[in-house]
Amino acid sequence: MQHRIIVLGAGYTGAIVAGRVARRLHREDVSITLVNEGADFVERVRMHQLAAGQDLKPRPLREMFAGTGVGLRLARVTGVDVDRRTVAVVDANGAGELAYDTLVYALGSGWDSRGVPGAAEYAYEVSSRPGALRLRERLARLDAGQTVLVVGGGLTGLEAVTEIAEARPDLDVALAARGGLGDWLSPRGREHLRKVFDKLGITAYEHATVTGVEADRVATADGRAIPAAVAVWTTGFAVHPIARATALEVTDSGQIVVDGTMRSVSHPDVYAVGDAAMVMGPGDKPLRMSCASGVPTAWHAADAIAARLAGGRLPTSRIRYFNQCISLGRGEGLIQYVTADDRALRAALTGRLAAVYKELVCKGAAWGVANPTLGLPTRRRRVTRARTTAGSTVDALA
Ligand SMILES: Cc1cc2nc3c(=O)[nH]c(=O)nc-3n(C[C@H](O)[C@H](O)[C@H](O)COP(=O)(O)OP(=O)(O)OC[C@H]3O[C@@H](n4cnc5c(N)ncnc54)[C@H](O)[C@@H]3O)c2cc1C
Repeated sequence: MQHRIIVLGAGYTGAIVAGRVARRLHREDVSITLVNEGADFVERVRMHQLAAGQDLKPRPLREMFAGTGVGLRLARVTGVDVDRRTVAVVDANGAGELAYDTLVYALGSGWDSRGVPGAAEYAYEVSSRPGALRLRERLARLDAGQTVLVVGGGLTGLEAVTEIAEARPDLDVALAARGGLGDWLSPRGREHLRKVFDKLGITAYEHATVTGVEADRVATADGRAIPAAVAVWTTGFAVHPIARATALEVTDSGQIVVDGTMRSVSHPDVYAVGDAAMVMGPGDKPLRMSCASGVPTAWHAADAIAARLAGGRLPTSRIRYFNQCISLGRGEGLIQYVTADDRALRAALTGRLAAVYKELVCKGAAWGVANPTLGLPTRRRRVTRARTTAGSTVDALA
């Protein structure tokens, strides 16, 4: 009997878990199935580039996982039953069910309109491929001088607004931020950001909390109306509602609560990684939804699963931050060095060098996913956990 490992979601984190577990455990002992809705790996960190008109390299999952021992199932996950240990899926052939012994939940997140009136109806988003393509098509139809307003002054907002302004200097591009522009950055980082905004002709509306979106403008809490032929919403991500509908322990926002090995605190045969997981980082602060912290959660989960099934040490290191890598168009960037718990240090790298650094980080992340079993030492270990009946194990969970 093989131990059935099912990984839901082939984004940055799910793909890494599947590949890393395949490299660690003996093929005769485990079956690993990676379930994803789309046929391609989507580089979410480049969705603002796609929206701004750049073409991204297609990355078919079938090619990436050929010969790795990971089976791919292209289907949409519609539900998880953690008591029966099953996953409900739908594909072109209809509805089906997959049974697991160990589940890894890595379904990521989407955009979050935060219930602001008009946002879901009128705003565009860059958190998904369909969203980015819809914005790309809309931007292509804008005439010179028309207004684009990016709502949200966080990392995604900064990357989106600079990319759009660089690609379309003929448009009137602006950003609305709830606080001051880049107010969490170091003085050097903030100064550089303002320089790039000036160079690209981006207007910054600071201390502007958007309270409503209409077809051609947004309203702010202090009574301003900011023109926006196109409003791009980047105020944070929201997880998919699937986990919340299960018996798993989740936070108010629907993220699965996990321990330091990414194992659900309520259901020990379930792991959660990436945006879908609520992981405590240094300073007892939850890790933010990002690749920077999501990829280490995937390493931890894969190593913990292998250790619990085949013996070995559980991962114990705390996931920490080193820097925030921000692209500001293709020619400019900002690498803000941070403390372990993500607070800005004085040091920051700026300019062309920072843009190259960020591009290498994006390429490296995609390379890691596209070569899921390369570069890891081969230590395929035998599964030692004794089995009773299909799907249940007798030894105590570590
Ligand atoms: C424009 C943009 C720029 C970003 N830049 C950065 C950055 O510079 N640095 C950084 O650290 N982070 C960045 N992020 C955040 C980063 O992209 C996410 O944190 C990261 O993608 C999370 O990885 P994940 O594996 O949890 O989820 P995802 O990468 O979103 O993968 C989830 C996968 O699950 C699949 N899926 C979802 N629902 C279902 C379903 N019901 N059935 C089947 N499959 C499903 C999806 O198709 C996808 O393949 C950026 C995000 C955006 C949108």
